[in-house]
Amino acid sequence: MAELVQRYLDEILAEHRDSTEGRLADYIPELATVDPSGFAVSLQLTDGFVYESGDTATEFTIQSISKPFTYALALERAGFDAVDARIGVEPTGEAFNEISVDHRTKAPKNAMINAGAIAAASLMPGSTPQARFECILDFYSACAGRTLEVDEDVYRSEKATGSRNRAIAYMLQSFGMLDGDPDEALDVYTRQCAIRVTSTDLARMASTLARGGRNPQSGQRVLSGAVVQRTLAVMMTCGMYDATGNWVSSVGMPAKSGVGGGLLTVLPGQLGIGVYSPRLDDTGNSVRGAKVCRSLSARLGLHFLSVSRESRSIIRATRDVAAGVRVYELHGDLLFTGAEQALRTVEEDSADIEVVILEVSGVDDSNDVARSMLAGMRESLRRAGKEGCLVDPDRTVLTAGSASDAVVYSTVEEALAAVLDRRGR
Ligand code: GLN
Repeated sequence: MAELVQRYLDEILAEHRDSTEGRLADYIPELATVDPSGFAVSLQLTDGFVYESGDTATEFTIQSISKPFTYALALERAGFDAVDARIGVEPTGEAFNEISVDHRTKAPKNAMINAGAIAAASLMPGSTPQARFECILDFYSACAGRTLEVDEDVYRSEKATGSRNRAIAYMLQSFGMLDGDPDEALDVYTRQCAIRVTSTDLARMASTLARGGRNPQSGQRVLSGAVVQRTLAVMMTCGMYDATGNWVSSVGMPAKSGVGGGLLTVLPGQLGIGVYSPRLDDTGNSVRGAKVCRSLSARLGLHFLSVSRESRSIIRATRDVAAGVRVYELHGDLLFTGAEQALRTVEEDSADIEVVILEVSGVDDSNDVARSMLAGMRESLRRAGKEGCLVDPDRTVLTAGSASDAVVYSTVEEALAAVLDRRGR
């Protein structure tokens, strides 16, 4: 069966293979020496399964695709307040290497342009540039699920020619947006850009973001959900530089490109994609990489704003198991809209019932908002002299750490016996 998806990927690569549009980046001399024909796509589902097509073993430098990861690590380690004081979250509509800051705050406008990325690298923990870089390398490796390495030739090549980034680093220092030595911050940034990856590494890093910060293979949590949400938001609005609007409307997935020819896209909750093709357009994005993403989005229906179906009713069935005791069987995802529906239905029924048993064994996922809404439901039933309880055999809804006074049973029979007993019937 998996051949079907494999065939889609092979066909999409075949469709774009002959395109020779675009040029290798040559402002970093070493990048102009790579084989321009390299072409690969990898896709990892959030359950860890990987599809690969093309030159997926070819290594290339991560370049700007490093930016969302270092930004995420800065948020995780230094905290939102410290990072937000130094780096904004507004799109610039400018080129990646623009020498610019927000004219009011003097902070770089976002972490996807070089100015913001150099500021993020300076926020890494560690007393030496080497320690700060190790922290970055370990983190990228944990996201990719293997130990990554630096391409020393590309690193030296960019270091020897990176006057523009040096100008940016010194500008940040002069505005008080960078602590310590600007050359050290720049060195950490230049090294992170020279980390070697394959398209499959990118797909794995992307699906770590798609899973809300947990590496799908190792199961290791490397980022908190809040940091991932912020990072994806910035990728969505700023990840493709001055081509972002076009990207959002045609592809509709948060993404990041690099001048090494890599492209990474994330469909939150579902999958991560890594593409490689080193010929770039004028904005510094991989030409065939972008084409592959457009085709994937259209053919597999991946645009994040496509409204495929309205959310289904959370209530699968209701039944009365004794006079005034009603069971509501819930299924699917019990998030805000599901909990709201359950609350409203119970309220409409309230004249007829004394006891509400929510049977949630068919619920796949739940969150804190839904849990606190159910707690609120139980509380208002209690105030009306009624009661509410949960049948949650797998503790899907009532995870550890939830309100300990919640009344939970493993079966409806058990709940009913306890309820009748309590009510002296
Ligand atoms: N290292 C590159 C630079 O700073 C990264 C740019 C990119 O990939 N867009 O110029």
